[in-house]
Order: sequence, then structure tokens, then C-alpha cells
Amino acid sequence: MKDCLSYNRIDISLKINTKKQKTMSVTKVWIEEDCTSCGICEGICPQVFLIKDISTIIEGVNYAEFSLQIKDASESCPVDVIRYTDETGLNH
Ligand code: SF4
Repeated sequence: MKDCLSYNRIDISLKINTKKQKTMSVTKVWIEEDCTSCGICEGICPQVFLIKDISTIIEGVNYAEFSLQIKDASESCPVDVIRYTDETGLNH
């Protein structure tokens, strides 16, 4: 019984942390090597991502305004090359 409670606490803690991460504003975003130019990121957030030969980040954008879309693009990237920094300074 104690083990089940421990797992429930861990599960609840993970859900809270995930919810916090989703609400954190993005302060910086960049693309690492190996972008395949699939266009998914641009489709999700054309205000931030622009496909040239590979995906590029549009400069001068207030990334915080597009935090949810940037995180969605990062999670949707098939080769996992979209990185961002949140308001706590943590890199994802
Ligand atoms: S989703 Fe990923 S692989 Fe596709 S264009 Fe964007 S950065 Fe490149």
C-alpha cells in the first residue's frame, strides 16, 4: 500500500512539473544541427520559424508571446532539434 502511495505522489509531482513547464515563458529559441526541413515547426508557428534551406529562427520576435506554439513545435519536431530557454533560465 505504501508503494502505491509513493507512486501516486511521484505521478502527481510529475503532472504539476509538466503543467509548470507548459506555462513557463520562452525567452530564447534555437535550432541544433540535423534539421530535415520538414516544415512542421513553421506550420505550427510561422511567426517564429522560417524554413530556408533548413529551419531558422526569426529575429526580433517576442518569443514569450508564442511560448505554447514554440513548445508544441519542439515536441513535434521529428528529429528533436528545437531547443529553447524558459524564464527560469533552464534549457529544454
Ligand atoms: S520540425 Fe524540426 S526537422 Fe522539421 S523543419 Fe522544424 S526544426 Fe527542422
